Amino acid sequence: MVSPRYTVPVPVEPALELVRKYNLPGPRYTSYPTAPQFSDAIDRVALLHEIALDNKDDHSPLSIYFHLPFCETLCWYCGCTTVITKRRASAGEYVSWLEKELALTAPLLNSARPVTQLHFGGGTPTFLPPEEIDRLAATIHRHFKFSPDSENSVEIDPRRLTKEHVEAFRRLGCNRASLGVQDTNPQVQLAVHRWQPLAQTAQAITWLREAGFQSVSVDLIYGLPLQTPTTFTTTLDEIIALNPDRLAVFSYAHVPWIKPAQKIFDDREQLPSTEDKLAMLMMAVAKLTAAGYVQIGMDHFARPDDELAIAFADGTLHRNFQGYTTRAGATLYGFGMSSISQTDGSFYQNHKELDDYVAALEAGRLPFERGYLLTDDDRHRRAIISDIMCGRGLDYASLTRRLGLDFATTFAIELTSLADLETDGLLKRHEQGLTISALGRLFLRIIAMRFDAHLTKRPGGFSKTV
Ligand code: SF4
Repeated sequence: MVSPRYTVPVPVEPALELVRKYNLPGPRYTSYPTAPQFSDAIDRVALLHEIALDNKDDHSPLSIYFHLPFCETLCWYCGCTTVITKRRASAGEYVSWLEKELALTAPLLNSARPVTQLHFGGGTPTFLPPEEIDRLAATIHRHFKFSPDSENSVEIDPRRLTKEHVEAFRRLGCNRASLGVQDTNPQVQLAVHRWQPLAQTAQAITWLREAGFQSVSVDLIYGLPLQTPTTFTTTLDEIIALNPDRLAVFSYAHVPWIKPAQKIFDDREQLPSTEDKLAMLMMAVAKLTAAGYVQIGMDHFARPDDELAIAFADGTLHRNFQGYTTRAGATLYGFGMSSISQTDGSFYQNHKELDDYVAALEAGRLPFERGYLLTDDDRHRRAIISDIMCGRGLDYASLTRRLGLDFATTFAIELTSLADLETDGLLKRHEQGLTISALGRLFLRIIAMRFDAHLTKRPGGFSKTV
């Protein structure tokens, strides 16, 4: 099913009513089942068998992820797994632990497989000094063979960046970068403990372009303390003027019971209301669309000739732990503390605490602590939820063919449960499938949740969906 281009503006008032009605906690569905389902009681023998099966074929593509957790200071909204330190020696020690993990994992992986996607996330990848980036590059290239068109990306903190960092990641093979900005307003930046003058962001983009990075993306967050629709409009204008190739505009995930630093925000006084959050989201959609970007899935925007926009338009967009991607079918192997790996039939996650991660490696063990083996039902629901989250809607004939079952009959209860969403104009069911409206695009997580068989067992713990 080809995805529609959403050119029809969403009316504000009905959307506001629906946000009040449907703004429930829910997963972002970068995976299905989601991470809370992972268990430390996973059958390790079955998991190793699953990894062996995944590595039978020389040609199946690989996606690899490196989690580089260090940050010098904590941004108080942060939801990432980080280690806050100014101790520079941590960088070199951590690269040595990654080398050890790669050496332990290498015998399990088929070295002939081409890497089509590499991502460095954090934390702050540029906490590593350039010489440690070079050392890590040498190790990665010793263990993996890259496809010539591999998409190699790095998350950049403009506050901790030098030209030498940019050049080191470029030497490693990185061709895409995403910059953490969140908001350009000085009061908001002070309120979230992230002081980042716009000139620093502009300088980072200049260095990345000069070094030959093909794509530069900017991450913004709406819903932060002291933000208003007016201040966020200025943020959008200032970032659009820097002409990034892509943008991600995320909803702030307020989960102080998981991230205690967020307790510093006064919920009533500082955090914007639901009405203001919706206004900011709709402002972002309107401004970015007017500036020539195409909205992709839930919260991403790209130039129409960007491969992400093309994949969205032709229905081949995918979603993984890094968000939306064009790289279909690549299984993911994650390295570093807290990183998640994903094969067709399994997920497994490394220790989230640095000491535990290091202790496992020191003992010569693979450093994963929990995981999940998918059932056939999980695989079916994963395909359905991916189609929804990528904005494709559902094509019953295609799903029947892909899943090897009569889709409309098997999922009749879930399809029936969508009646209220259809009445509210979020989607339209018809004989051949289900299409998602422009309004429904704001509520993809709500639509996907109707197909999540695990949700009733763990209703709490997620951030609000808008
Ligand atoms: S730099 Fe990024 S990862 Fe580090 S604390 Fe700030 S938001 Fe979190």
